[in-house]
Amino acid sequence: MIPYGRQEITEADLAAVQAVLQSDWLTQGPAVPAFEAAVARRVGAAHAVAVNSATSALHLACLALDLGPGDWLWTSPITFVASANCARYCGAEVDFVDIDPHTRNLCPQALAEKLRVAEAQGRLPKIVVAVHFGGLACDMPALQALARRYGFRLIEDASHAIGASVGGIPVGAGQASDITVFSFHPVKIITTGEGGMALTNHPELARRMACLRSHGITREAAEMEAAVRTDGDGPWYYQQVELGFNYRMTDLQAALGLSQLDRLDDYIARREQLATAYDQALAALPLALPARRPGYQSAWHLYPVALSDAAGCDRLNLFNALREAGIGVNVHYIPVHLQPYYRRLGFAPGQYPQAENYYSRALTLPLYPTLGGDEQAQVIAALQARLAA
Ligand SMILES: *Cc1c(COP(=O)(O)O)cnc(C)c1O
Repeated sequence: MIPYGRQEITEADLAAVQAVLQSDWLTQGPAVPAFEAAVARRVGAAHAVAVNSATSALHLACLALDLGPGDWLWTSPITFVASANCARYCGAEVDFVDIDPHTRNLCPQALAEKLRVAEAQGRLPKIVVAVHFGGLACDMPALQALARRYGFRLIEDASHAIGASVGGIPVGAGQASDITVFSFHPVKIITTGEGGMALTNHPELARRMACLRSHGITREAAEMEAAVRTDGDGPWYYQQVELGFNYRMTDLQAALGLSQLDRLDDYIARREQLATAYDQALAALPLALPARRPGYQSAWHLYPVALSDAAGCDRLNLFNALREAGIGVNVHYIPVHLQPYYRRLGFAPGQYPQAENYYSRALTLPLYPTLGGDEQAQVIAALQARLAA
């Protein structure tokens, strides 16, 4: 079976992890800050906080932005559930904004309209999570203009988009948002097994997230409550100043990430090459292909197509036929508001028609750096055989 996504592990990766295994530090050693510094430098962010998953990074980002009970977080329905769940961990409410059917990202016009109504009702969001679906960045300047006008904070869920850029500026530079989150799950662009990172240009947000990732404990005198300290407290002394978590990344993971980061540019180039080949080979088929926008370099985490009405076959049949032919297609995503957990919160089919329409037609084709030209040709031939008029 040709999978829809797959990691690549090289000899250099193995050596990097082995070196950590044979060192003094399996966790809380030098590899984590080295990986943080390297990613921050690569994307042009001032601060980076490595954690054990992007889900944890989203949770910490929401906490650092003081999301709590009575607050609202808005995001796209076409995403992984973690983009919304982070609000629920904080006791906050979730709402969704429909997608632009072309980019399949949260639609800035739909957001503007929803904000106008919410302002009148006094229920504006505290945070909007912009998801760069498939690796194509959202229109961040448009979202930033709305954030300034309505006073909400912006988190970029860039789980799909490390290595992407807009106008040559990397996603993660954070020029239009408060915090950007990357995922290093094996199916994403680079991997640490499990892992994630939050990037920001705000030192206070970085400090808060770093503290919360490790139990809310600090060893910095400047961050401690002076009144609690006594003269007898020595170098061992630390304070737990708030309720945090153990969301730490290990040094094993960070060493793997650092080694993988060396290949980020190669990976994006190869993904771009494969996406271009799909664009050309599939142009004549009854499929809506992923959007391209001038100046936007996608990280091409995914290559999702949507069947047109003219396809004359339904998505389920096509999915099953391709799987039977050894092609590991997938579907991204079941709209989050249709999950039973969110239906119990009051969401229902029909609320986000663009997202639901896209989902009913969506199919993700195999795309990963080690996908061979012959394997891609097999995918293309299988689609042509079933869709060509
Ligand atoms: C993968 C993913 C996440 C969660 O990442 P983990 O590192 O697995 O926690 C969050 N948001 C989106 C859009 C994702 O694709």
